[in-house]
Amino acid sequence: MLGIGKKTAVKAAIATAASVVASVGIVLLLVPMLGGQPDGPGFWMSVLCPLVIAGPASLYQFHQVDVIARQRDAIARMHVRLEDAHAELERLHADLGERARTDALTGGLNRGAFFAALEQAAADGKGPVALVVADADHFKKINDGFGHLVGDEALCRIGAAMEDAIGGIGIWGRIGGEEFAALLADTGRSAAIAAAERLRLAIAETKLVADGQPVALSVSIGIACASAPCAAIELFRRADAELYRAKSGGRNRIVIDGREVTAIAA
Ligand code: GH3
Ligand code: MG
Ligand code: MG
Repeated sequence: MLGIGKKTAVKAAIATAASVVASVGIVLLLVPMLGGQPDGPGFWMSVLCPLVIAGPASLYQFHQVDVIARQRDAIARMHVRLEDAHAELERLHADLGERARTDALTGGLNRGAFFAALEQAAADGKGPVALVVADADHFKKINDGFGHLVGDEALCRIGAAMEDAIGGIGIWGRIGGEEFAALLADTGRSAAIAAAERLRLAIAETKLVADGQPVALSVSIGIACASAPCAAIELFRRADAELYRAKSGGRNRIVIDGREVTAIAA
């Protein structure tokens, strides 16, 4: 009734009874001491007054305590829900940040994120740094011959080869349609050539089959080395020029400092 719990009503009844007992006790003790008789309307007033005053007052008091306790519990539950929502929001925020940096098709960095990392490494780094730029050969033919979905699958395979060859020693990304790049910090010329050769071979040996036919995959690679700090854009311009030479030199090969360094050019 009126949202008053049974426990609250019992506590209020006990407090009221205690008030009545105290009031009657005081009357029975004090009135004789003052020379009166503790009977008649005076006695009943000592019973009625605590009933009328202490009854509702204690009921209200205990009810308020009950309401406050329930509200405190509700706030605690809301606090837990708020903390959960906050944790979920942080997770979504991190996820969104990751997606904004990632190429959805291959899982590598996207162009913006890769160039940001390159700029930072070139400006803040110390020691040797190598930039490897790889472009899929005759990729248009794959799309034209097998369709764009097979082309997409081929890009995924190149991405997987990038991850295998570069993932443990540097960062990589897809910087254009069928163009990839890798940044190797603290890496000298020969280690960069070795990584690029592992990458080239892995892609050339990829077994991709579509419509029952093997899909030939290869990349041409240009490498530029420098000593950080250096200008990122100049490093990229050099690697891109080497890539162009690898293309015009016959594709599926690696060029650095204007010279082909491929171990086994097909
Ligand atoms: P080259 O050996 O000279 O690099 O020849 P290429 O055919 O690879 O180069 P070209 O620039 O002529 O063609 C690149 C092709 O890559 C054209 C474009 O449709 C395709 N491409 C770009 N991005 C994607 C993609 O995300 N998915 C698919 N399936 N194809 C793509
Ligand atoms: Mg190409
Ligand atoms: Mg290209």
